[in-house]
Amino acid sequence: MLTSQNIIDKKKDFFFPNAMHFYQKPPHIVRGEGQYLFDDEGKRYVDFFAGVTVVNCGHCNSEINARVQEQLNKLQHTSIIYLTEPMVELAERLSTLLPGDINRTFFVNSGTEANEGALLLARMHTGRRGFIAFEGGLHGRSALTMSVTGIPMWRVDPFLDEHVHFAKGYMAFEDDLENQAMVSLESLKEILEAHGSEIAALIAEPILGNGGIHVPPDDFWKQVKTLCEDYGVLMIADEVQTGFGRCGEMFAVNHFGVVPDILTYAKALGNGTPIGGFSAREAVAKSFNKPSASTLGGNPVSMTAGLEVLNYIERHKLVEKSAELGAYLISELKKLSFSCIRDVRGLGLMVGLSLESPDQVDRVLEAMKDEGFIIGKNGLNRDTLAFQPPLVITKKNIDDMVNALKGTIERL
Ligand code: PMP
Repeated sequence: MLTSQNIIDKKKDFFFPNAMHFYQKPPHIVRGEGQYLFDDEGKRYVDFFAGVTVVNCGHCNSEINARVQEQLNKLQHTSIIYLTEPMVELAERLSTLLPGDINRTFFVNSGTEANEGALLLARMHTGRRGFIAFEGGLHGRSALTMSVTGIPMWRVDPFLDEHVHFAKGYMAFEDDLENQAMVSLESLKEILEAHGSEIAALIAEPILGNGGIHVPPDDFWKQVKTLCEDYGVLMIADEVQTGFGRCGEMFAVNHFGVVPDILTYAKALGNGTPIGGFSAREAVAKSFNKPSASTLGGNPVSMTAGLEVLNYIERHKLVEKSAELGAYLISELKKLSFSCIRDVRGLGLMVGLSLESPDQVDRVLEAMKDEGFIIGKNGLNRDTLAFQPPLVITKKNIDDMVNALKGTIERL
């Protein structure tokens, strides 16, 4: 078996130089089970990042995978242009779970592709070219989705689309949130007043993920939606990170009582099987009436995974669990009193803890990994620890992690 160093060397030799990894001494992960990962030496880690918020139902979930394997052995692929059952079953099921009257779906393979499709749909529906996005948002790696991404480090294309306007972000520590939200709304208003008639859609993460896990105030998205409506601008909610129970609701927009025109998702719907989709209200969806097809979008294996994920979430009450355990995790983290902790915030099991510097974050991540806990990081300055575990995590896992974190910060 390859060692960690072998893998690092091969990445250097055969990947593009953009490939990176967490940790100075990264483990070679060989197995996953529920909320746990195991390395090549048999060391167990509690996974508090879920493969970047993908495995909400836990690693290698046997209930889900039994049905996926069955489908894999029965019919792995035709294409969406042929008739298969799982794709229509999943689209129908989603229509019962998506907010409001969102009931039409186009399946793709990733979050990037879902957002690209949503942006395209908005242009087709409105006949307008421009977009509004928020500073701090992340929406993908394709030309258009990178153009609406508001995090400098992820905007590497030297020729990004110029028809994108950025409103001030809603990134703020809890005590400054209301104020920052007002600044954000004001800047959105200014953009709409100046360019509203050229804008097809506003795209936003209801709760900022990569930008540092920021939850805007309760009435924020309603105000955004109303402003957009005044100018005939569609609202796209990017729920690629926040969807399927992550934030203690099936979709994060439910917390804010707002129904977007288009909602995008990926990651957790497959629990590790590649999947993505964008869904829209009838009135908007009907504008996408020219032929279009994704070769692997609607693939029977991914669609079966999606259906079984939804079944599992429902059967095991993972949405409720996320709300409950998330509140517990936040309250436990808030009890830690260290001067280097700047802020703790989040909703459901999407929780961020900001330290004073990215260097502190890296040192804590490394030490916590050695203690057996995999934690993520994000934030515009990469100064935030990200806790987004599988929703099957236990209270004991949380207690153990918080204890280890306390010891780690004390030591460092
Ligand atoms: N939107 C959001 C909010 C994301 O967090 C990500 C990925 N981290 C994407 C879109 C892109 O998804 P993918 O990597 O599946 O293309």
